[in-house]
Amino acid sequence: MMGLAAIAELFAGPGARDYLGEPVTIGIHMRQAGALAAAAGAGRPLVAAALLHDIGHLRRETDSRHGDAGAQWLSQWFGAEVTEPVRLHVAAKRYLCATEPGYLEQLSAESVRTLALQGGPMTAEQAAGFEALPFAADAVAVRRWDDEAKDPEVTPPDFAHFEALLKTLMRS
Ligand code: FE
Repeated sequence: MMGLAAIAELFAGPGARDYLGEPVTIGIHMRQAGALAAAAGAGRPLVAAALLHDIGHLRRETDSRHGDAGAQWLSQWFGAEVTEPVRLHVAAKRYLCATEPGYLEQLSAESVRTLALQGGPMTAEQAAGFEALPFAADAVAVRRWDDEAKDPEVTPPDFAHFEALLKTLMRS
């Protein structure tokens, strides 16, 4: 199956209708994140990363693996500017918990619960290592949209709205 069709199928499939402990479905959550990135004026790769950051969940990967597994699957078609923020968005949560006062306190209850499964807040040494990674800042940006994209009052654009943008970034 072509990449775009495979991704569209996941957004239309049963995995996208899971709630995973949040007030919106995972599909709505991901489309809200993509829309927030676009509204913030992010570049196309970062909008794509925000939209696709939980693709591992759509493929029913576990909490601790969904970033890595999602990035690995996306690397069939996308470059590092898309896949690295996806891969690192879980690490970015652990990083922000360690370095930003008040960050942990404003996370959703579910996000705090999964933090433990994901390794807890980074140590100072881990945080320094994270900051040195090429896409660390992009991963942190995705993480902030991720945290914000849980609003049951917001109806995000359909997946189709993002298809043209994704096409420009995909290797055929
Ligand atoms: Fe998310």
